[in-house]
Amino acid sequence: MDKYYLTTPIYYVNAQPHVGHVYTTVAADVLARWERFLGKEVFFLTGADEHGSKVAAAADQAGLSPQELVDQTVQRYLDLWKLLEIKFDRFIRTTEAEHQKIIQSIFSALQRNGDIYPGVYEGHYCVPCERYLAPAEGIDCADCGRPTEKLSEETYFFRLSRYQERLKEHFVKNPEFIQPERIRDEVTNMLSDPLPDLSLTRRCRWGVPLPEGVAGSGLTIYVWFDALLNYLSGVNYNPLSPAETDQGKLFQRFWPPDVQLVGKDIIRFHHIIWPAILMALNLPLPKKVFGHGWWLSGNEKMSKSKGNVVEPFDFCSRYGSEALRYFLLAEVPFGMDGNFTEDAFRKRYNSDLANDLGNLIHRFNHLIRTNFGGKVPAPQDGGILARKTTGLLPALTQKMENLDFFGFLETLREVVSTGNHYLDEEAPWRKGPNSGPALYNLTETSRILSIYLEPVLPRTAALIRRQLGLMDLPTGKEALTWGLTKPGTIVTKAPPLFPRIK
Ligand SMILES: [Zn+2]
Repeated sequence: MDKYYLTTPIYYVNAQPHVGHVYTTVAADVLARWERFLGKEVFFLTGADEHGSKVAAAADQAGLSPQELVDQTVQRYLDLWKLLEIKFDRFIRTTEAEHQKIIQSIFSALQRNGDIYPGVYEGHYCVPCERYLAPAEGIDCADCGRPTEKLSEETYFFRLSRYQERLKEHFVKNPEFIQPERIRDEVTNMLSDPLPDLSLTRRCRWGVPLPEGVAGSGLTIYVWFDALLNYLSGVNYNPLSPAETDQGKLFQRFWPPDVQLVGKDIIRFHHIIWPAILMALNLPLPKKVFGHGWWLSGNEKMSKSKGNVVEPFDFCSRYGSEALRYFLLAEVPFGMDGNFTEDAFRKRYNSDLANDLGNLIHRFNHLIRTNFGGKVPAPQDGGILARKTTGLLPALTQKMENLDFFGFLETLREVVSTGNHYLDEEAPWRKGPNSGPALYNLTETSRILSIYLEPVLPRTAALIRRQLGLMDLPTGKEALTWGLTKPGTIVTKAPPLFPRIK
């Protein structure tokens, strides 16, 4: 069986989850469900990034210990993922003892081969962004615009400079590594100047301690190094005890990642620093690291101070989590920025989900119940609907491989729209000789549609199958054959899948 290893970034838990976190995680969940459907063994890793001075500061402000704060915030994430039907295989937390041990042993391994060395760091440091500025950046942080502090301290450096040429080569030989294509130049340009070595420690009380025997009192491991390595510790990688152990098996089975999803604001960490660390560890690199766009609100970046943050719990409670999953992927192509407005959300909900999909199912379900005693009539020729729905798999697979959720859903919308036209044209309410077969074809189309929609709309897909009496039929690739619905299957009345929003 083929394997598929997929990750999201682990989210920084100094604040509550927002729609940006939902976006990445829903996209990952859709990919994971799709690959499971194709028959692959999937490992979907997500989690929480729990260290660093921002977390310590947020805890101070809330009158909690850092651990209490992260425990509370992580619970919010877990609640949200449950609400959104996110089926991850592991939720890793960087405060787990096992993760911290792995970080320390990776640190030691890199130190032994000369990729980590002691030195003194002098420069400007941005506390909110937890990063040192490059000398050319001046004194204000280029990321957040805030003034920075000048620091001079003992540290340990990661020899990033050693990997500059190898990174360049890798990018040329593996164009798939940097996705989408439109960010490739931006990433490649990061290598046009010499890469400075990376300071790997911070004077921060809330972090992974340096390995035993490594001098540096008061220093902890840089939170980004700690966080990036979750993709290794998440599959139990350990440089000291490789494959023989049971734990090593997970790493052996799934490494390297097939797809890593990240927001476009953290591509430097994921396209430069992360692969360099893997090169230093002599490990194969991920096949694809995809930097997706941002959701803006009223065309501005969402921020608490502007009061334009889309609150995911609130949206789910008002419109349902399925509609939120759908909107995020159907509204804009994955690599682009989108503008999240409630108005756009309601429009798309009403047109795609209420009027098109929901109405299609409701209309023919109603006709089967009123004109055929609630039993699916016998088939004849599948006609245009059979042609439209069978044979979609290669195109849809291609779209998922390209992370083109937008195109994937567009294709399925065409099926729905063909179904609605077919229903209008066949007009089975007139009870002509073709009424029965037409209703059969609509049932069959909806069954196959439910299989394809499942990754994006898992609950809706199940509700469609339930009301059409199709729960016992297969849901894997074998379900795509036309004609599996048995005539006589009992159709039941069900509430609208997506009640129209007024
Ligand atoms: Zn900053």
